[in-house]
Amino acid sequence: MKLFNPDKLPIVESFIRCYDEPLQRLFPDDKIKIIFRSLPDEDNDYRDIVVRLNKTVYLSTPEINKLGLTPPEIFATIAHELGHILYHTHPWAYDAEERADSLAAELGLGRQMITVIEKIIASRRFRHITSALVRRIQYLTHLA
Ligand SMILES: [Zn+2]
Repeated sequence: MKLFNPDKLPIVESFIRCYDEPLQRLFPDDKIKIIFRSLPDEDNDYRDIVVRLNKTVYLSTPEINKLGLTPPEIFATIAHELGHILYHTHPWAYDAEERADSLAAELGLGRQMITVIEKIIASRRFRHITSALVRRIQYLTHLA
């Protein structure tokens, strides 16, 4: 696995500095290339925090700031998206989100993943999936 940050997002630079080594150990296949890009506000009609398209992860700095995520919480968010890619989660699988969360936990970011989900619940952005978000917190609590 290889991580690329062509937009030079500072938070992604920090993430790579801290987590590239443990990730290489977990996923030694360097044919898997994952790219991080900035999601410009003018292209973000749905006010997404992160968007994943195949092996590219788009991050919206304004939406991340609106949610009030701390740098370690953004690391957990990035790890979650990597979890979707590296564990090949199926979009309709009942445990897709939990599997993605488990990579955050694997990197020691389980606690931060929980507070990200708590902030998402508090923001009432995804009211229709609150019960699924609560289930993720319960799962992460068991892993921690
Ligand atoms: Zn997810």
